[in-house]
Amino acid sequence: MTRNNFAGPNSFTLCSLIENRYNTGHTLMRIIITGARGFAGAHLGNALTARNHTVLGIDDLSAPSGNPVRFPIKIGKARSLKGDLLKDTDVLIHLAARINVDESILEPSLYFTENVGDTLELLETVRRHAPRIKFIYASTSEVYGSGDNSPMSEVHPLRPASPYAVSKLAAEQLCANYRDIHGLDMTIARNFNTFGEYQRDGMYGGVIPKFVSQGLAKKPITVFGDGTQSRDYMHVSQAINGYIMATEGRMPALFNCGSGQSHRIIDIAKAIAKKFHVPITHHEPRPNEVQYLCVDCRLAQKHGYPVTTDFWAMLDSYCDWRKEPQSSPHEFAHLA
Ligand code: UDP
Repeated sequence: MTRNNFAGPNSFTLCSLIENRYNTGHTLMRIIITGARGFAGAHLGNALTARNHTVLGIDDLSAPSGNPVRFPIKIGKARSLKGDLLKDTDVLIHLAARINVDESILEPSLYFTENVGDTLELLETVRRHAPRIKFIYASTSEVYGSGDNSPMSEVHPLRPASPYAVSKLAAEQLCANYRDIHGLDMTIARNFNTFGEYQRDGMYGGVIPKFVSQGLAKKPITVFGDGTQSRDYMHVSQAINGYIMATEGRMPALFNCGSGQSHRIIDIAKAIAKKFHVPITHHEPRPNEVQYLCVDCRLAQKHGYPVTTDFWAMLDSYCDWRKEPQSSPHEFAHLA
């Protein structure tokens, strides 16, 4: 059988739960990823494929990354996933979502329709057709809102500060309800900010690829407000590590992932401005801006999640990667 030639439920089934004794020692699984053509989804699908799992991606192609994928993609929304397909699946990783704070302020109903409504429909399909599937929900540190200058653990108060954050928290709480009421096998990953190869830039992209694109275009770096707001950035490979560990049953039911270091946006802007020899301009602050995010991920660490803290070196290497033409999937050297 060609491992990733997804020809229907049977080919998927045959790969299920075969002990991969001759390779890495983990159990081989059939995995569906929603949002699999996006930034994290494409990296994750490729990494799971490299570990010999059988991956099928679902994506509506609303924000595809340029990262070539090594697994099949079915085009559609997460809510269009059919029960028949889920029945033959071991793990469902639900990444598909609208993810930009600024866009959510302009288009809140879009965020509720897609982030909350689609998650609810997916949960219902799982409850009816695949109640024993492992369901992994990709949440976000935005559910915490601003921290008080100390690292934020999973029990930090939840103060979502944007429609995006509220929509992710609502969907997360629906996931927890389905676990508590219907007994679904649910894992919730709260990732802090992520950056890396093939991340979306532009108006609604992440701030780091956006700043680098501005640098490459010799345009000023656009800092919102004074830039003293700070974020905990991890390279995307770290987020992928967390998802892989959750997929393989090595993470607790709710966990934070991040680096444990918070960097001010103005300092990131200065580093990128220096690298590309461009100025910085300040724009209106984002309304209700989250001022401080910093992860306490000791819980994940206890389960073997490796934290890396060399943000500035990784940022530099990402800037260099952006200078070169890109055409191949990005490989990660160190996966947990
Ligand atoms: N930001 C900025 N300039 C931009 C885009 C974003 O200064 O052109 C800031 C934004 O206000 C926030 C930070 O960068 O403080 C991270 O924004 P992003 O949207 O990447 O992530 P999130 O707000 O979800 O943490």
